[in-house]
Amino acid sequence: MSSVNSAGKQAARSPVGRRLGPAYCAHRLLICCLSLALLGLGLSACKPEPLVEPAPASSAAPAADIDRAPATGASDASVMKELERIERAGPVKPVESERYLLALQARVKPGSAELLELLILRSNLAINRRDTASAESHMKLMREWPNPRLAAEAKLAQHVLRARLLAQSGQLELAKKELSDLNSYSAGPTSALRRAYSLLGALQSDTGNADAALLNLHQALKLAEKTGEAWRRVDLLGSLANTYVEAQQLERAEQTINEALLEAERDPDTYMLLNVQTMRGIIYAELGKHALAQRAKQEALAHARRSGVEDLLSLALANYADYHLKQGNYTEALRLAEEALPLAMKTQDLSSQAVALANMGLAKIALKRVEEGKRDALAGIAIDAKRGANSGASIGWQELGAYLEKAGDLPGAADAYHRYRKLIDQALRADTRKAVLEAQARYDDERRAQELELLNRDMNLKSEQLRERDLRLKLWAALGGCVLLSGVLLGLAYQRIRKTNLALASSNAALRVQGERDPLTGLSNRRHFQAAIKRLADQGRLSGTVFLIDIDHFKRINDGYGHAAGDSVLIEIAKRLRSTLRDEDLVVRWGGEEFLIVVDTRDAAYAGTLAQRLLDHIGSEPVSHGGQSIPITASIGFASFPIAPQGLALSWERAIDLVDTVMYMAKAHGRNKAYGIQSIAAEDEASLLLLAARMEAAWHEGSVQLLALQGPEPVSPPT
Ligand code: GH3
Ligand code: MG
Ligand code: MG
Repeated sequence: MSSVNSAGKQAARSPVGRRLGPAYCAHRLLICCLSLALLGLGLSACKPEPLVEPAPASSAAPAADIDRAPATGASDASVMKELERIERAGPVKPVESERYLLALQARVKPGSAELLELLILRSNLAINRRDTASAESHMKLMREWPNPRLAAEAKLAQHVLRARLLAQSGQLELAKKELSDLNSYSAGPTSALRRAYSLLGALQSDTGNADAALLNLHQALKLAEKTGEAWRRVDLLGSLANTYVEAQQLERAEQTINEALLEAERDPDTYMLLNVQTMRGIIYAELGKHALAQRAKQEALAHARRSGVEDLLSLALANYADYHLKQGNYTEALRLAEEALPLAMKTQDLSSQAVALANMGLAKIALKRVEEGKRDALAGIAIDAKRGANSGASIGWQELGAYLEKAGDLPGAADAYHRYRKLIDQALRADTRKAVLEAQARYDDERRAQELELLNRDMNLKSEQLRERDLRLKLWAALGGCVLLSGVLLGLAYQRIRKTNLALASSNAALRVQGERDPLTGLSNRRHFQAAIKRLADQGRLSGTVFLIDIDHFKRINDGYGHAAGDSVLIEIAKRLRSTLRDEDLVVRWGGEEFLIVVDTRDAAYAGTLAQRLLDHIGSEPVSHGGQSIPITASIGFASFPIAPQGLALSWERAIDLVDTVMYMAKAHGRNKAYGIQSIAAEDEASLLLLAARMEAAWHEGSVQLLALQGPEPVSPPT
């Protein structure tokens, strides 16, 4: 497991959220770093050359820079500039920064914008060093700010700091609540608002609400760009990249973080480079570009060591352990995670503690110390679960599932996968799924409206031209007295208008179809699914058979043969699915390498036959791409609704949930299998859900009947 600096950490500059993805490791560093960055001071990066000249030990006032500070009462842009430099240096120079700010404070006018900014920075530094009392006393001043012109700014700044304190103590949901009313500030204080959007985005990312996070981070980015301070932009690009990873938009993530790197290299500082390289390490690991991932993670660790800041180092070490886990160097992974943990305990950094414990546990499981490892990993996951960091917890469960599966603990693996799915459901399936669908629909509608407008404009133009030509023709005809000729020409013009109208109508139809298709495979997308499922769900209760198909080890296909080959596989699988099914069956590209099928039948025997056929058609022939032969298998979950024997009817969301659970059992039991629910001995929906929550055990006890089908030999996935 990996992580970037999480919002809950010592927000200094801008926070990065945590990502969803395999291996518990690197992510948090970014999250943490970004979150530090977010708030202004926390752990901000540190320039190679000190941003703030350390004050001579004997003097209360910092040296050179402070001399340029304005005299008491002056409200000078140069003070703001100084404060910006300190904010940037704060994360890696906390002691010097605090000393400098203290000296500067005496020279700044009471109630001024400069004093407010200064106190925000001091509060952030206090929060970073867990000095809650100092932070609270600064915040009290903000609540009672004497200058009414700045009262709103001070109030919002106070909310942001409160949110940081809450996040740091592991109360992410409460922290989000603290920032729930940003709309009322929309015309107001831009720097407090920028910090608020940035922190809120990081918190949403941490809690698995990627789409809302993207919106808020974009708002923050817009405000950061207005400041013209490039480092703020870099921090936010890092947060955005992290959120793109969570939303599984890896290409976008790669593009974003490389843009951040370019910008960072123009005016580098340690903190910024640490964040950017951490995030690059995570993204490249996700993309399977291992050499690049390794280089980035090594660089991140070097920057963390250089910073000398324990928070940053503990997370970088814990993240680097993730790299070694992925490489199969379990002893080294364990050593690094064990080095990270005491540092994380010392700094009370929950995010790093969770990553270190989880990675320690995974390494131990791989080293055959299964029970001990499980305990550590569960302790790591529990930290995230307790603070509401759903992204981290879900990665934890997913990875624990994979390690237990490898270690032969199948019930443990199935349970872990199941919990993973539950969290993912909360994070991605409920709010986010809906929001993503809505956002997508909005985007599609806007795009369609734009295209239609263009078409209309084009059409109007053409009609106008035709009318003009028509007029000219009439004139000629009248002039020449050639009525017949003008009639013919008018007829021609009329035909052209008709043609244009027909073309417009067909473009409209094509656009409508496009909006409901997945562009890669041509299958229905979720938007179309939402409309179509209404036919099969009477009063919201589903009647029919649902299959959820997930390609096995698809990541390895991308890693081994390249992303384009992965795309070809998806296209080919889509073809195979379509050719196995009837035209009226609904086939949807459900996610990256997941397909959902809904068939209008309740015949369990037919469902079993169809599942076997699907396994066979997917797995019997490798996919050809660029002269290579790529072996493919898939895991399938399926069930017919209403559920036998009681005929319990479920909403389509719950139905898919159930099918998803058995699909993951098929994975945990070795992949290339289909598991179908035959019956669940439950009287009502509530008891059905209880059994479904412990499906593996309920199956062994006999309260759930499953049909287990095996896919064709020998197609093992590429290793
Ligand atoms: P499992 O057997 O457990 O399902 O492992 P997996 O590797 O198939 O699953 P995982 O969810 O870890 O990885 C799915 C990968 O699919 C990650 C993502 O980068 C990739 N992916 C998602 N959408 C696309 C796409 O449109 N094209 C390509 N080439 N890859 C995609
Ligand atoms: Mg999948
Ligand atoms: Mg898969």
